[in-house]
Amino acid sequence: MQMERLAVTFDHTLGDPSMNPGDGPRLVVLSGPSGVGKDSVIEYIRARNPWVWLSVSVTTRPIRDYEVNGLHYHFVDRAEFHRLVEAGEFLEWAEFAGNLYGTPRKPVEERLATGQSALLKIDLQGARQVRRAMPEALLVFLAPPSWEELKRRLIGRGTDDEETIRQRLAHAQEELAAEPEFDVTIVNHTVEQAAAELVGLLSPQATRR
Ligand code: 5GP
Repeated sequence: MQMERLAVTFDHTLGDPSMNPGDGPRLVVLSGPSGVGKDSVIEYIRARNPWVWLSVSVTTRPIRDYEVNGLHYHFVDRAEFHRLVEAGEFLEWAEFAGNLYGTPRKPVEERLATGQSALLKIDLQGARQVRRAMPEALLVFLAPPSWEELKRRLIGRGTDDEETIRQRLAHAQEELAAEPEFDVTIVNHTVEQAAAELVGLLSPQATRR
């Protein structure tokens, strides 16, 4: 699949760039292999671009120390998650590393109905479901600068056993192979550069050449 080239030009003097009318992308889905740095890019954007609207997912995974319920995720038990699935409340949902994650449908639809863009940060299975449910969504693949760099990040401090690392690397290779399914690739050279490229895509004035 041919990568789309996007000319990203928007005027910062206009305030909330996602309010501007235009033909630009509205629903933007950020995905990519585990360990590539999606969370860092999102945190960077969250701190500097308050106009960016990020979907808050529902998850069954245990809350981490630094996380705030309702801000990073809505934390629920499996029974509640299944109830939401049955009620058709999710735009997409997937199991990842033994935990369930889903994007609540209503807030995304409400946000898009105002003509403003929305950002989802989800795993590859979720991105594929969004592609089917909303073909007009812009799917963005966050890629590592190189396989060596991703390997370095996944192996981390070397506290895991060899088998765990082997599985993680095999999984990462499968995830990297999904890149051609995406509309745009952003290479995560630095958090600042990747965040700037992603923010550019959220502006409706980012036009396709
Ligand atoms: P973590 O538990 O580290 O926050 O997230 C694990 C993985 O789940 C990440 O790849 C993250 O992007 C993905 N994820 C988070 N929310 C959702 C969601 O609503 N749907 C899907 N499909 N994946 C999600």
